[in-house]
Amino acid sequence: MEDYRISLGETRYRPGKVVCIGRNYAKHARELGNAIPTQPMVFMKPASSLIASGSDVVIHPMTNDVHHEVELVCLIGRRGKNIAQSDALSYIEGYAVGLDMTARDLQVQAKEKGHPWAVAKGFDTFAPLGPFVDRASISDPQDLTLHLTINGEVRQSGHTSDMIFPVAELISWCSGLFTLEPGDLLFTGTPEGVGPVHAGDRLKAEINGLPVLEVGVQQG
Ligand code: ZN
Repeated sequence: MEDYRISLGETRYRPGKVVCIGRNYAKHARELGNAIPTQPMVFMKPASSLIASGSDVVIHPMTNDVHHEVELVCLIGRRGKNIAQSDALSYIEGYAVGLDMTARDLQVQAKEKGHPWAVAKGFDTFAPLGPFVDRASISDPQDLTLHLTINGEVRQSGHTSDMIFPVAELISWCSGLFTLEPGDLLFTGTPEGVGPVHAGDRLKAEINGLPVLEVGVQQG
């Protein structure tokens, strides 16, 4: 795997923690038969799962059911711990479209056994990221539409106003768990409509105001 670096203007970031939020849209929680969370549900992906737009997602031989999850992704620009919600958005340096690729079959097995999701969420290529834009170009992260198409067909459509926990609350919450550092990423959860991808598919993920993320899919 080539080394992934985050570029934003003149600045390069080495990706740090890839913090992700599960079940942050009520309709998506319900479509998978999960309860609506009463506090943010946090998990992580390894930085080695990151790939840039134009690359291919590789389906690992251990899974037969890889799902797409289109998500708004925030890049943390400065160090913070116990960040107040009122101050939280100032810790974001940029935004991008991301895909939280998920081996749903392995995740279901892990849930049944009470095991972690690290494998289901963490394979190489399971975190495609579009180009980042400066935070100044997004006036309100809770006023964005998300779309995911496969081979031109719309599969997911959502709006960030439907997040159960808005971005500021997520950053505040996560910074109370672990210090956030420059280069850390926050995947903020997916709206409903998740479903399988197959070798040969072309995925296009869009959030208004952000560069498009496009990836192919191949069998590993
Ligand atoms: Zn997700």
